[in-house]
Amino acid sequence: MTQRFELNDLIRADNFIDGKWVAASSGKRFDVTDPATGKVIVQVADSGPADARAATDAAARALPAWRDTLAKDRAAVLHRWHALIVENADALGRLISLEQGKPLAEGRGEVMYGASYVAWFADEATRIYGDIIPQQARGKRMSAIKEPIGICAAITPWNFPLAMIARKIAPALAAGCTVVGKPAEDTPLTALALVMLAHEAGVPPGALNLISASRDNGVAAVADWLEDGRVRKITFTGSTPVGKYLAKESAGTLKKLSLELGGNAPFIVFDDADIESAVAGLMAAKFRNGGQTCVCPNRVYVQSSVYEKFADLLSKRVGALKVAPATDEQAQIGPMINARAVEKIERHVNDAIERGARALTGGKRLTDLGPNYYAPTVLADATPEMQLSCEETFGPVVPLFKFDDEAEAIRAANDTPFGLAAYFYSQNVKRIDRVSRALEAGIVGINEGAISSEAAPFGGVKESGYGREGSKYGLDDYLSIKYLCQGGLE
Ligand code: NAD
Repeated sequence: MTQRFELNDLIRADNFIDGKWVAASSGKRFDVTDPATGKVIVQVADSGPADARAATDAAARALPAWRDTLAKDRAAVLHRWHALIVENADALGRLISLEQGKPLAEGRGEVMYGASYVAWFADEATRIYGDIIPQQARGKRMSAIKEPIGICAAITPWNFPLAMIARKIAPALAAGCTVVGKPAEDTPLTALALVMLAHEAGVPPGALNLISASRDNGVAAVADWLEDGRVRKITFTGSTPVGKYLAKESAGTLKKLSLELGGNAPFIVFDDADIESAVAGLMAAKFRNGGQTCVCPNRVYVQSSVYEKFADLLSKRVGALKVAPATDEQAQIGPMINARAVEKIERHVNDAIERGARALTGGKRLTDLGPNYYAPTVLADATPEMQLSCEETFGPVVPLFKFDDEAEAIRAANDTPFGLAAYFYSQNVKRIDRVSRALEAGIVGINEGAISSEAAPFGGVKESGYGREGSKYGLDDYLSIKYLCQGGLE
């Protein structure tokens, strides 16, 4: 039997350490606000290094017993957690929408997406196999076994408050690791609710600890984990500059890192594509979460002969999107996460227009709706000099670049330090083979805009990071290989 909670029952304002809800040791708190209105939802613990240390102490105490728990028993706990998440999908989805702003249907969708990783890794926990190595010498046996790496620190962004942390906690616990975590300051509530459900599901005290913190105090709290030799792994999703900082600062204790960082995804439409389905694919890939996803197409390259047709179809679809708060069931695009995010979008669009781009639709804030709304926008005549060509805009803006041939499109697509996702549309099988191999990205969508799945390896190349989440590879990041060599057997 699972248990169903109401939205208010899921709201927690304290840290979760060693199986207990505790205030920050300083007693400080900070505001969590609704991005649709700017109003305070609740004040949560503003933790610092002492709280991070208490979380690590708890995780260290819990590690020996959790590591030795039978794989099938760890799997059973994770399956119970999955069932609780699914049972509470509606309330969790509302909580996501409340603190993050995405439309309700997307909030619920994120819950099911995050839950799918919990179920996946529950199953994977029972499949952590090693190898018996073929005998190399008489009287000598060699094997390789996989062991949990130890305490993992999980640090997550605000754009998917449930899915990003679920896909770190689930593999860590499945592998037999214990966890300390800090969600983004904009969206700590969903992560705290998730941890509450994990506790209900039977994750033992200390195996999973979560602290919340404001931006500045969070940096100091995480610094304690970076320096602590007991923390053996950092699993981070967020921006590339912060990922680089974590890699540098954790070098003193040589931790294993998984870094899921920023992207600058190209989306290429060749003249042999099914144009209607390319438009549909772009709408799905670009406008999820109002364009605030790491795999969002950021640069759209369209072959000259189909450019006008594509731009026309696309702007009609984009212009018809319903922008509204998540409280409106019809909403397709919600508010951006905060004022900083809207300012960045505005800066990118203004820079593009000053450099010759044309707004086919949108191109402005929607101040009537609230402080953080921006109109879904299509910009024609984009060029590589524009800021939005080099940086993630992280908002509902589609810049259209024109190209003449395949080589030019590939060169432009790869002309970025990032390499997370890339997409292209073509009906030519030879081209599909060539372009899939030529694109420098960890994930390639071919005639498809919806690419995420718990069964697939998610992650980037170049400055989009390293490590993979989901799939049969996802557990490797939380395991180390031990080689056993036994002699004297003959
Ligand atoms: P961010 O890097 O600013 O913050 C991410 C997390 O790191 C937050 O919890 C934040 O508090 C923390 N943080 C920030 N500075 C820190 C520091 N100096 N020390 C320790 N912790 C620190 O990113 P964001 O704005 O929250 O998220 C958006 C970014 O995340 C985008 O670049 C997006 O592409 C990326 N992202 C990547 C993926 C992926 O899977 N590759 C998924 C989602 C988001």
